[in-house]
Amino acid sequence: MKPLTASAPIDVAPPLARQRTTRDVGRVLVLNATYEPINVCSVRRAAVLLLKEKADMIERGGSELRSEHHVLARPIVIKLRVYANVPRDSSKRKITRRAVFARDGWACQYCGTRSNLTVDHVIPRSKGGLSTWENIVASCAPCNRRKADRLPAQINMHPRKAPRVPGAHVFITVAAQRIPAAWRQWLPAEAA
Ligand SMILES: [Zn+2]
Repeated sequence: MKPLTASAPIDVAPPLARQRTTRDVGRVLVLNATYEPINVCSVRRAAVLLLKEKADMIERGGSELRSEHHVLARPIVIKLRVYANVPRDSSKRKITRRAVFARDGWACQYCGTRSNLTVDHVIPRSKGGLSTWENIVASCAPCNRRKADRLPAQINMHPRKAPRVPGAHVFITVAAQRIPAAWRQWLPAEAA
């Protein structure tokens, strides 16, 4: 059997095309060797990790991936064999609007509304506030305009929850867009 290498990617196009018409999102949840969820990857990347025996299949789908030489059940959740040293401090992860909204439950942190969301610097940049996870919150546009470039104490507008660096599950939620049912038991309750 010809070994599968990165230069000979498994052809997953036909099953993926079929799955898009069903409820499958085409993403795979990656667990660390400790079963802690750490990431989301493509089906193709998961297939390579499985075939190189760098990961084990934890949850499989009903469909199959086929290449010239391999048939593999469609991975849904995989687990790395060797512990990946993921920094617990995810402050280095890119701050995106979607990730801020997901962390803040898609609600304005000043009034609670879920519509017309923007992001707000709690300490305004004009007052030296940094673009960090601890200083950015989801805010509706009206609250953002009302607060303008004032400090929270000056206008008595304080975020409902002190903003923090989000956990890995927030980035998993953002990357997947929708959480498949088969992932839920591997994620913390707040992610599902
Ligand atoms: Zn608001």
